[in-house]
Amino acid sequence: MITILPAEPLHRHTTLNVGGEAEYFVAVKDKTEAVSAVTTALEKNLPITILGGGSNVLVSDSGIKGLVIKNKITGITSEQSGDNILVTAGAGEVFDDLIAHTVAKGWWGLENLSHIPGTVGATPVQNVGAYGVEIADVLVSLTAIDTRTGEERVFSAPECEFWYRRSFFKSALGRHYFITSVTFKVQSEANPQIAYRDLERYFKDQTDYDLEHIRAAVIDIRSTKFPDWSVLGTAGSFFQNPIVSPTVYTELKSRYPELPGYEQTDGVVKLPLGWILDKIVGLKGLRVGNVGMYENQALVLVNYGGATAAEITAFAESIQEKVAAATGIEIEWEVTKL
Ligand SMILES: Cc1cc2nc3c(=O)[nH]c(=O)nc-3n(C[C@H](O)[C@H](O)[C@H](O)COP(=O)(O)OP(=O)(O)OC[C@H]3O[C@@H](n4cnc5c(N)ncnc54)[C@H](O)[C@@H]3O)c2cc1C
Repeated sequence: MITILPAEPLHRHTTLNVGGEAEYFVAVKDKTEAVSAVTTALEKNLPITILGGGSNVLVSDSGIKGLVIKNKITGITSEQSGDNILVTAGAGEVFDDLIAHTVAKGWWGLENLSHIPGTVGATPVQNVGAYGVEIADVLVSLTAIDTRTGEERVFSAPECEFWYRRSFFKSALGRHYFITSVTFKVQSEANPQIAYRDLERYFKDQTDYDLEHIRAAVIDIRSTKFPDWSVLGTAGSFFQNPIVSPTVYTELKSRYPELPGYEQTDGVVKLPLGWILDKIVGLKGLRVGNVGMYENQALVLVNYGGATAAEITAFAESIQEKVAAATGIEIEWEVTKL
């Protein structure tokens, strides 16, 4: 049985603590309720927006028209499949709770993604990644409801079309799907992945790479880079790291010899935007009114309290302009505007 509420304030449901009202709002706790919410919206001709933990969205000050469906679908099951354990989680499970669960079971694979806020169902949307692991490495399949018809569809990993901070579900077509569960592959055999620079540095002179230790290390490192989102409004990294051609990288490197660049498998080069914002544009710690770039990590935008979506948008656009003027690079938002 679902209860649809009118005029729900959305700032309560986002980690930036920003946003107007949802015209209609419903929280769904299982697949039956999810289908019922979608069917109701279709009958009443209401546009549908899916919300998880609200940790990667900027909701406009005028709110969202139609029905906002907050995903609270829970449940975790697992089965052995060859050398892998397949773990299926309800899309409304808190992603970090799932990781705590797999680590407690002694299953390797998700630990480097510890402490990323939000729900399981949002992780494929932007191919969530951190510390050398991304969802594309661990996802086997997912189930989703087509919000145009109410029908269920299973997506294999290749059908999710993962790329850096992107997937099919960020495309115009993909936005019609409400992800209801995700299946990940994990292993009981030890497989520590500590090659990522910060982790390598953390484990220097140590040989104790057990699962709990890696999870604790990731949480420890993250606590120095990100503000506590229950205290300070933030959506984490607000912009994507830019990806440029080797020619552009060489030209920038001739101007900024210390600029790091990470060559990707397809030859393009990923640049650390935090470094550019800090060392080239000098924006770390910049504050304008209620909005600023976090003093410990220039890539992280924060709402110091009372900011509006319009204020955040204007601030973010001014940063985009400054980066373009200094480097010629057009940076893109990682956060989704709703
Ligand atoms: C402090 C902090 C640190 C962060 N660190 C990282 C990091 O290291 N790496 C990283 O990749 N991200 C990071 N993020 C971003 C964010 O946590 C992730 O993108 C997370 O997966 C968002 O989950 P959510 O449930 O909050 O999604 P929401 O913000 O609610 O939604 C995000 C988008 O996904 C869509 N969506 C949500 N659920 C579903 C669903 N079930 N089906 C279909 N569409 C859906 C929404 O419509 C929206 O477009 C960070 C955020 C914060 C605040």
